[in-house]
Amino acid sequence: MLVDSAYEVFVQDNDLPTSIYQIENAKKCAIEFCSLSKTAGFTGTRCGYTIVPHELIVRCGNSLNKQWLRRQTTKFNGVPYIVQRGAEAVFSKDGLMQCKENIAYYMQNASIISDTLKEFGVWHTGGKNAPYIWLKCPQSMSSWDFFDYLLDNVNVVGTPGAGFGKNGEGFFRLSAFGKRENVVEAMDRLKKSELKW
Ligand SMILES: *Cc1c(COP(=O)(O)O)cnc(C)c1O
Repeated sequence: MLVDSAYEVFVQDNDLPTSIYQIENAKKCAIEFCSLSKTAGFTGTRCGYTIVPHELIVRCGNSLNKQWLRRQTTKFNGVPYIVQRGAEAVFSKDGLMQCKENIAYYMQNASIISDTLKEFGVWHTGGKNAPYIWLKCPQSMSSWDFFDYLLDNVNVVGTPGAGFGKNGEGFFRLSAFGKRENVVEAMDRLKKSELKW
C-alpha cells in the first residue's frame, strides 16, 4: 500500500491520524511518502522522503528497504545541494516554528474562505485539517462553467472539481495558499458579484 501524506501538517485535530503507521502492523504492508512542498512551502523546488520500513517484506523474503536503497543510490543522483540545505533548515528548531506559523496563516485563510461560503449558505467542506475548500457549484453549474464564470465575471480563479474524476463534476476547489490580502480581496469580489447561490 502506498500512502501519500503530503498534507499531514495540516491535520491539526489530535484525534485524526497523520501517518499510516499509527495502524498496528502497517509497517509490514505500507510505504509512506511525504514532500516538503506543502509542509514548508517548497513547491517547485522539490524535496521529499519515502519511508520503506525494514519490516516490509516482499516476495521471496527480500527486504524492500534494501532494494529501495539500492535503487535510490544507483538510479537517482539526489536533489540539488542547495535544496537539501533548505530541507535541513526546515527540521531545525527555528525552521519547524516558522513552518508552523506559516501553516497557521494558511489555515486562517481557509477560515476566511469558509466563513464567506457560510454566509452564502453554499454547501462546502474542507478548510479544516486541510488547506483546500470544496464547494458545490451554484445553480447546478458544471465545474468548468463555474470556472469560466468566476474567471470572466468575478476575476477569481480556482480549480474545477471535474479534473479530479467524474465524482468531482459540479464541484469546485478553492485554495488557502495565498497572501491574506488576496484571499480577502477574492472573497470581497465574490460578495460583490451578481452570483446567485
Ligand atoms: C503537492 C502534492 C504532493 C507533492 O508533490 P511534489 O512533487 O513533492 O511537489 C504530493 N501529493 C499531493 C496530493 C500533493 O498535492
